Amino acid sequence: VPDLVAALATCVGEAHVLTDPGVVAGDCTDWTRRWTGRTPAVVRPGGVDEVRAVIAVCREHKVALVPQGGNTGLVGGSVPLKGEVVLSTQRLDAIAVVDELGLQVIAGAGASLAGVQVAAAAVGLRFAVDLAARDTATIGGMVATNAGGTHVLRFGSMRAQLLGIEAVLGNGSVVHHMRGLRKDNTGYDLPGLLCGSEGTLGVITAVSLRLVPQPASIAVALVGFASIGDAVRGAIELDGAIGGVEALELMLADGLAIVAAHRSVALPSVATAPATVLVEVAGDAAARVEHLAGAVGALRGVVGEPAVALDAAGRARLWQLREAHPEAAAAQGIVHKLDVTLPAAVIEGFVADVRALCGRIAPGASCLIYGHVGDGNLHVNVAGAEVDDQVDEAILEVVDRAGGSISAEHGIGTAKKAWLERVRSPGDVAAFRAIKRALDPDGIMNPNALLP
Ligand SMILES: Cc1cc2nc3c(=O)[nH]c(=O)nc-3n(C[C@H](O)[C@H](O)[C@H](O)COP(=O)(O)OP(=O)(O)OC[C@H]3O[C@@H](n4cnc5c(N)ncnc54)[C@H](O)[C@@H]3O)c2cc1C
Repeated sequence: VPDLVAALATCVGEAHVLTDPGVVAGDCTDWTRRWTGRTPAVVRPGGVDEVRAVIAVCREHKVALVPQGGNTGLVGGSVPLKGEVVLSTQRLDAIAVVDELGLQVIAGAGASLAGVQVAAAAVGLRFAVDLAARDTATIGGMVATNAGGTHVLRFGSMRAQLLGIEAVLGNGSVVHHMRGLRKDNTGYDLPGLLCGSEGTLGVITAVSLRLVPQPASIAVALVGFASIGDAVRGAIELDGAIGGVEALELMLADGLAIVAAHRSVALPSVATAPATVLVEVAGDAAARVEHLAGAVGALRGVVGEPAVALDAAGRARLWQLREAHPEAAAAQGIVHKLDVTLPAAVIEGFVADVRALCGRIAPGASCLIYGHVGDGNLHVNVAGAEVDDQVDEAILEVVDRAGGSISAEHGIGTAKKAWLERVRSPGDVAAFRAIKRALDPDGIMNPNALLP
């Protein structure tokens, strides 16, 4: 270990190799607190050459490494479970001047999502991906996990925002394709490949990101429904009826009550409906809200008066109810998080099945379900003393039987590794392994994530 630490210090400088167990403890435990490991060092390179040097040292010392951004990933993929070196992207946080005409910006892997959003907003543009961990989650981590968030419905996930990528692969070579062209059919899609690779092929150091214009105005409405089935159908119908829909988020009455208690906030009266859908519309929002009122009137199972907000403070109050769900779930204990996609038609039955299943296997557990209903993506959060891997297994089996996906947007990480071969064909997994062998021949890149 002393040799390794000394060699890493020659790459990045002593000040950027952290070994004090007290200092690195936070880097060794993931956001959910479900996974904890240990590391000989957290190393913080300041540029692509330093990343390359760190990878070379790790190969030479036959030590694996785990790239880490904001450590907000929820599948245990960002922590050193078996004594790997942690490569922190904290110092790769530069954000270039926005290219206003080209509608794009180059961001270092360690730049926060919020940082990119602020840079884009400063010139009247917008980065289309948004999620509640925006202050901490990094662009590199979001690319590595192909993060989704609340606006996938309208703009797609991280993969759809990528115009270029720079990365150091596990074999030491540097990939650099940063011209940022919208059309560029010159070979394999390396941004697409590295996006969603969860740190298993290389370290992403910078990316070129597509930006979109800011909408003229935005409105948010919270619509109550008598049942989850009505809410799912209502969300789909609203999307078709009013245009400009940017987000459709499902919440349930029990989850909203927990959020209200956790954040000490009052709920609008519509929040007591069995299911609510938060609808965000952009463009000429006032006109859309008028359409919304008409469209809501035509839906089946609407309960109460929708709460509507056109100003920033009001919108933030409604969004807070949705965005505080992960934090409120985590306050119930160590959360087992299942991030799944389901066909719209089975969502209501799935929620009933999961609640029944939790009642059977872990009767004292809290079970919070919410999600990006416009994409069929639900987040199931189960917490409590008797919750163990059996709960994950049982829920994922229900998802698989229903024809869903066991990972919608968080990735496989270490949490769902054992499932990969059950949900991808032998040919798929063989191709994954061939790519992994070619780009990371020594198997040093994040060995605990993704591939079983
Ligand atoms: C409150 C909350 C809300 C969230 N909401 C959403 C949501 O709506 N949608 C969603 O998709 N996710 C969501 N997440 C999950 C999380 O924010 C995303 O997965 C995010 O992309 C992780 O970014 P990070 O910088 O924290 O990555 P980390 O957690 O540090 O790492 C995640 C994975 O990426 C790898 N990695 C990190 N940086 C690099 C790099 N530069 N090069 C190569 N590999 C790298 C790691 O090794 C690890 O496998 C949420 C999390 C929280 C805590």
